[in-house]
Amino acid sequence: MTSERQIELVMALRGQGITDERVLSAIERTPREEFVEEAFGHSAYENVALPIACGQTISQPYIVAYMTQALDVHARHRVLEIGTGSGYQAAVLSRLCRMVYTIERHKPLLKQAEARFRKLKLENIVTRLGDGFQGWPEQAPFDRILLTAATPEVPQILIEELKPGGIMIAPIGRPVPESFSQLLVKMIKTEQGVKREDLLPVVFVPMVPGVPGGARKPNAEGSET
Ligand code: SAH
Repeated sequence: MTSERQIELVMALRGQGITDERVLSAIERTPREEFVEEAFGHSAYENVALPIACGQTISQPYIVAYMTQALDVHARHRVLEIGTGSGYQAAVLSRLCRMVYTIERHKPLLKQAEARFRKLKLENIVTRLGDGFQGWPEQAPFDRILLTAATPEVPQILIEELKPGGIMIAPIGRPVPESFSQLLVKMIKTEQGVKREDLLPVVFVPMVPGVPGGARKPNAEGSET
């Protein structure tokens, strides 16, 4: 059920310039309090980023809305997300497209996110414990790719996994606190190469290679949640 606080959040996002009704409706139907730590439940609908397990963060709702709008997701799309984190962004995307594929390197975060997807009966999200720098070759190509962790350069493998005409949104830049020079960037893959458009300055946690704990059994198909 949609709470008053969810409706207020959507009104605030509208005021901040989010205009895509499908995106606003997806956010309205996704209870953010399910994705934050209990201690921060009271802040779930404030427009702030919040800490989650493993030293990571759930992005502020405005950034989630902004990135989702910029990604221009359609109902038939298959979307790849790098950095499942709490699962909130994947949950919002899942309301807008055919299938979300989401990769996370921290197992405890992934397990929590999977439990949330099950609880909310989001059946079109496929998860993978792994390193986003390696992409997801078994499921490529994707119509859309969203990075929710910052990297100095977009990994070439991810550009290769994007369909021609596809859109990728990514925070590009050095990890904080080295500098605050991350930019949210939109890339469109065309026959002539990748067209890049700079969107706005952002602060994301860094994209880190590898999986904590090292080697894992490959789980190429992912696990349906
Ligand atoms: N989209 C998330 C926010 C993610 S924060 C949400 O809605 O809550 C960024 C996440 O990216 C963190 O959980 C971090 O562990 C993960 N991450 C960082 N580097 C990664 C990599 N190489 N592969 C996969 N996930 C990565």
